[in-house]
Amino acid sequence: KPRHPILQVTDLTARYGKVTAVSGANIAVTRGSIVTVIGGNGAGKSTLLNSIMGALPSTGSCSGSVQYLGSEIGSWQVERRVSDGISLVPERRELFGSMSVEDNLLLGGFRLYRAGKHGWKATMDEVYDLFPRLRERRQQQAGTLSGGERQMLAVGRALMAQPQLLMLDEPSLGLAPRIVREIFQIIARLRSTGVAILLVEQNARAALQVADYGYVLETGEVVLEGKAKELAGNPRVIESYLGLG
Ligand code: ATP
Repeated sequence: KPRHPILQVTDLTARYGKVTAVSGANIAVTRGSIVTVIGGNGAGKSTLLNSIMGALPSTGSCSGSVQYLGSEIGSWQVERRVSDGISLVPERRELFGSMSVEDNLLLGGFRLYRAGKHGWKATMDEVYDLFPRLRERRQQQAGTLSGGERQMLAVGRALMAQPQLLMLDEPSLGLAPRIVREIFQIIARLRSTGVAILLVEQNARAALQVADYGYVLETGEVVLEGKAKELAGNPRVIESYLGLG
């Protein structure tokens, strides 16, 4: 039996006008685990994460239940979800390009900083330990970072909020295979810190390697779910998402 989930999404449906982007999805994430949602272009992966975050564009709406730490949070503003420990690293890795790496991290920890908590300094050290390359580049303008470094900074900034649930929207997008491996190694290391991770990916191979459990999303519907290892061996997943080799 799975432990009590930190996140339980039940019968989630999300629409943009007449377009249904997610249809009746049921997804659970337990503490200390990595759960992945794999799917192709337009399957509804970003819409799913934005619905959980309460950050759908104004043209979108969703129904169903989103329970976080046992509370129904569907009516909560984004700010409350963030301050209660949910962080989303969006696909577009929105950084402040003209600001330094360190200032971008500080902004991620703004609430801790403002609350006068000293935790932000220790958290920044932890982020730098996780991403030594960011420590080396702490004074560099974020806009001049490489694609991989930008992704590291986007994840680092999300971690500055000390999340209990970290959601990652296609962290491998546009990155070279070597950098993808590096990012996924870090994601695996994050799991051991106790944070729960919900990872949506088109790169099914990398995602299923790192995840404990997975869901397959096709045109907005969860069509398959199971232990990541089992999904990676499922003929339908191999055929549609893993290809040859
Ligand atoms: P990708 O991997 O290509 O980013 P995705 O799996 O994240 O895709 P979504 O971006 O969630 O998929 O899109 C799901 C569906 O919703 C698509 O058909 C898309 O065209 C539609 N959609 C997404 N955003 C909007 C929007 N703001 N307005 C209208 N339709 C949208």
